[in-house]
This record gives sequence, C-alpha cells and structure tokens, in this order.
Amino acid sequence: METEGEVPSVNPQQTGDMIIEEEGGVQEIATTKDSTQVPIYSFYGTAEDQMREIMKSYYENLFPFELLEQWLRYGNDPNSKRADVDKTFFARREISLTLENEAYLRNQYSHDWKELKAKCVKYRPQKIDIGAVFKASPKSSNFGFNDDEENPMQTCVEREFVIDIDMDDYNNVRTCCADAKICGKCWKYMKEAYIVIERALKEYFGFRHIIWLFSGRRGVHAWVCDKRARQMTNEVRGSVAEHLRVVSGSDKSGIKAENLRYPIHHLARKSYEELRKSFTEIVIEDQRLFESEEHVTKVLEFLRERFGVGDEGLRSIQKLISRSNTMESETFFKKFEEEIERIASTANLDNRRNKKKSYPMEELVLYFMYPRIDINVSKGMNHLLKSPFCVHPKSKKISVPLLDVRTFNPDTVPKIGDLITEREDGFLIVNDKPLKPYVDYFQMFVDNLEQENKKQQMAERAESRNEQGKNLDY
Ligand SMILES: [Zn+2]
Repeated sequence: METEGEVPSVNPQQTGDMIIEEEGGVQEIATTKDSTQVPIYSFYGTAEDQMREIMKSYYENLFPFELLEQWLRYGNDPNSKRADVDKTFFARREISLTLENEAYLRNQYSHDWKELKAKCVKYRPQKIDIGAVFKASPKSSNFGFNDDEENPMQTCVEREFVIDIDMDDYNNVRTCCADAKICGKCWKYMKEAYIVIERALKEYFGFRHIIWLFSGRRGVHAWVCDKRARQMTNEVRGSVAEHLRVVSGSDKSGIKAENLRYPIHHLARKSYEELRKSFTEIVIEDQRLFESEEHVTKVLEFLRERFGVGDEGLRSIQKLISRSNTMESETFFKKFEEEIERIASTANLDNRRNKKKSYPMEELVLYFMYPRIDINVSKGMNHLLKSPFCVHPKSKKISVPLLDVRTFNPDTVPKIGDLITEREDGFLIVNDKPLKPYVDYFQMFVDNLEQENKKQQMAERAESRNEQGKNLDY
C-alpha cells in the first residue's frame, strides 16, 4: 500500500540532516536517493522550473503560515510577558520539509511562522509534515543535557492524536474505482468514516477540538487537538486507536470483521446503526457488491465460518441475493436482514447457548462499511503527518479542511492551478478566493481552541493563586 500524506518516523538527530544555506541551492541534505540540489530558477525553463516558481509564489502569498503557528502554539505566545507561558513551545515542534526527488529535511524547527515561511519560500517544499513537540530543540534555550539524561531532542512531549483513513484500504469493498482513483461513489465511504469516527471521538472519548482534512488525493486525516489528546502517551494512543478499529483494513482473504461478542460494544452498536442507514445506497446500489460473485461468496463463507450456517441456509441466502436486482433495494435489504437473522438463529452453532447472542447482520454491515484506520499513524507521537494547506505533489490539490462532510466533493477542491496562474507576459497571478473559505474555517477552529486555552490558563492561574492564598493562611 502506498502511504499518502505521511512519512516514516525517524528520530531527530539520527538523520543528522544539515542544511548549508547558500544562494541558489541546498547542499548536504538527507535524501532518499542521492543528494540533490535545487537549481537556480529560470522562468523560461522547463515545466518543473515553472512549478517551482508557482510553489514559491504559493508559499509567499497564500499558504497561511501565521495561522499555522497560531494553531500549533496553543496559546503559548513567544512574546508573552507571563512566566507561565511556554515561549519556546512552537520552536520545539518538528516541522519537516519534503523537497523535490523526495529529499526529506527532517529535524527542522522554526522560531516562528516568519522563519518557517522564509524556509518554505527558499526551498519550495513539495510537502510540509508536522511532527511532535520535543522537550528541546536547537531553537530552544534548554538545548544542553547531561550524558546520563534522556536526550531532550529525542523526547516527545506532546502531539495531536491523528487518524489517517485512506481509500486504498477500501479496495476490497469498492468496484467503481481502483488504485489512486476516487469518485463521488467511493468517497461516500469517507463520509461514513467521518461520521462514525467523529462521533466516537466526541461521545466516547469526550474530545471536542477535531479538524478533518482532505489528504489531497484519496483520504482524510483527523487531528484531535484537545490538550488531553495531545498529551496522551504512545500506549494510550495505541489503545484509543485499537478501540476505534472495529474492522482491520488489511483484510485480503475474506470477511474478517472483528467478532462482536455479547453484549455488543456500545461503539459497535452505534456505528452499526449509523452505517446501516446508508448500506443500501453504498453497498447495494452504488458498488453493487451483491451482484459480484466474489462478494457473494465472501458473505456465504462468512456465514458458514462465523455462524455455522449449513448448506440449506446458504442456498436460501444465495437465492435471495440472486434476485436482489429484481426488487427495490430497500425491500431486498429488509428481506436479507430477516433471512440472515432467521438462518443464523437456527444454524448449527457449536456453542448453542450463544445463538441468540450473535450479531451476523451487525458484523456484515461493519465489515463492508466501518472506517479503515491506518492504526500505525495514530499510535506514535513521533509520526509525521502532512500539514493542512499542503499541495499534493501528484493531484496538485490543496489539503483543505472538510467544511461540510455531507457536501464535500474531492473534485471541487482547489488546485494550485486555480490559485496561481501564469499570464502570457510571464507574470504570475495569485487568486486567494478559492482558498478563502477553507482558511476562514481553519481560523475559526483555531480561534475556538485558543479561547478554550485561555479559559484553561485562567482557571489554572486562579487555582495556583488559591493555593498560594491557602499557604499564607497557615
Ligand atoms: Zn469510485
């Protein structure tokens, strides 16, 4: 599977990346292939030269760097006079750059958005990735450490909890497209993923500040920005992610929904109820999975293996499925549900006691539709994930927030070519209009976060004043 929007985690310092800043080039940078140099731009050059200039202009004029800093500093203003404000907070965040030829500049830190912007204008990265906040960075004053201490530059202190969902992992349940292609039909799986995961994060885990971003091509990323989420250890991240993963996305052999045990988990029940609503539309009408022999065989095998359904029961299900296109899909689905429940309850299960405590229909619906989460991205605090507002190097689409998931259409996402165009005389024209609604939306999200941060800080200050007051009383 091609990973999109993320690069493997490497400990800072291990790569030993160094940049020597010289006019006209980058030297001695770590690269996946050979070392590379950014050539001096010549406007009347190749299409790649032109793209470089367009990227430069994008970073110069449109990429919302200031907003990015406002988000990632979480109220820790470097210019604040208050002693309890963590002034190097933003400077300790790893923000790595991917240059052309997939040369990674890892272990990158910036004092503020202006420095980050200058770097991006200079190097015109194809991708900006956001990593963890470390205990120390070369940009922070607490750089030195003793040999017997843990290296503070390798110690992550916090990071948003992130979720990565990729259309690739739906290949076994979509017939409309394959590989990197997506269309409105298969995108519906992404909408369902958003609805189910957003609800789980909010209702089950109590998180409130979640932003969903289009990955630029065929997936979505969720960033959970609540302080509690940012401070979760890798262990806790792992268990939250495992909880959210009802279905493993790597299934190749057949149906392998995690067995739902009695009593059905609240999260699985809620997700089932949600997904069931669009099962007919997505699975039966759009993807026509019940007209595919491969999928029907999977369903039958699943019923035999999981629920001990015998040949007679399987034949009756098969017969019903073969008539699915002769009736309204809703009517078919109701009959299918009834038939599944009937044969599962009379099936020759080894463990007869559990017959009524099994969930064949729930498992089927979850298997076909439950969000496929790339769990490794969620587990590690140190995992890099693509920044909002990056330009996807292949699709040229911008990684924008999903304003309204129900109407979101990946085909209408602004491309770099909609924002910056070349005039005949060689000048570039910058148009910020297509990007504006997305930047405004992100600004609103960050403002809400900041308000909450302020409230929290004020509460903490009041508490510490109370503590001091108490101490004075005694
Ligand atoms: Zn499709």
